[in-house]
Amino acid sequence: MTSSARPLLNRRLAEFGTTIFAEMSALATATGSINLGQGFPDTDGPEEIREAAVRALRDGRGNQYPPGPGVPELRTAIAAHQEHRYGLSFDPDREVLVTAGATEAIAASLLALVEPGDEVVALEPYYDSYAASIALAGGTRVPVTLRPDGARDGAAEGNAFRLDLDELRAAVTDRTRLLLINTPHNPTGTVLTREELTAIAALAVERDLLVITDEVYEHLTFGDAGHIPLATLPGMRERTVTIGSAGKTFSFTGWKVGWVTASPELVTAVRSAKQFLTYVASGPFQYAVAEALALPDSYYDAFRADMSAKRDLLADGLVAAGFEVFRPAGTYFVTTDIRPLGESDGFAFCRALPERAGVVAIPNAVFYDHREAGAPFVRFAFCKRIPVLEEAVDRLKKLA
Ligand code: PMP
Ligand code: GLN
Repeated sequence: MTSSARPLLNRRLAEFGTTIFAEMSALATATGSINLGQGFPDTDGPEEIREAAVRALRDGRGNQYPPGPGVPELRTAIAAHQEHRYGLSFDPDREVLVTAGATEAIAASLLALVEPGDEVVALEPYYDSYAASIALAGGTRVPVTLRPDGARDGAAEGNAFRLDLDELRAAVTDRTRLLLINTPHNPTGTVLTREELTAIAALAVERDLLVITDEVYEHLTFGDAGHIPLATLPGMRERTVTIGSAGKTFSFTGWKVGWVTASPELVTAVRSAKQFLTYVASGPFQYAVAEALALPDSYYDAFRADMSAKRDLLADGLVAAGFEVFRPAGTYFVTTDIRPLGESDGFAFCRALPERAGVVAIPNAVFYDHREAGAPFVRFAFCKRIPVLEEAVDRLKKLA
């Protein structure tokens, strides 16, 4: 114990408390509720990939510290995947870095690239670790709020949160160091269009900004929406840090294998921070993820089709239960507006939901600086087995 009145937690972290995901998963366990809060699948990824991890462990591959940048097999597989899917070519030795999940990639990138006082422009609502990592780096976050586009018929594909490109442009100042982009976007499910990405790229080039783009949901887009990596746009290859993760794509969120692809200079910078965070992680899993990335396109197609059906099940169920629904074009989350249920405070709603309906969800307000802008929105995850989603929908219908 310290004898002074000084609080233990430093000022940079004081506002963050416990992450909402831990809080809500604990609530789900304590109340025996269906957990549609924290985004993790309730079934594991492909059996052969699980077996690949077992084989690596048994063969003694990765049981001791793997190389700092990641095992060569995985770096090669990441580069091959970027080339095959997007025509982006990265040198596995100089332009790929394996991290402890996307979370470490985000933290290391911000710690490496942001000076105290630099401004970081981020889309709001934002994934919660962005705010904490910007704060750890001593940066100032400048949120640009995604807003409902007003299609508001509750079921249409078009009912979505969109980025106002003028607001984005206006958020950039002389102190802006970088843009922090996320597409497909958690929690709204928005997938940025080519037009939006082109405008972001033009702004980055014009103002000479770095860009960090979190693309962990790259393989989770639905219907006509397709994922376009920001690094494929003109002028972006050399100024963009692209972040990916095996957690979402292969349904092994506990393995914590993520990665960065970028120019040699950017990768070197990010590695400088990363080496003092974990140094390395997930040895045997790195070999398994290398095999996963080489799965045929049919794996990704089947994964997308499965998640698309689950999206529709949950989105239709939420409409039937009386929510206004923003049917996502990507990710495995549905954002809803609770106002048609006569509610307006997402926090209060989510705290009461286990008792009222035996379901746990996430109040989107935690992802906002402008909390009032996020107050009526609540996020549900659909990366769960069909009977679980059906039971959740049945329970939620009792709210109406
Ligand atoms: N970015 C976004 C947008 C996420 O939703 C998540 C949660 N999976 C992460 C990063 C963190 O990914 P990981 O589990 O690989 O650290
Ligand atoms: N990315 C997951 C989500 O948004 C949770 C990750 C975590 O628990 N930190 O729900």
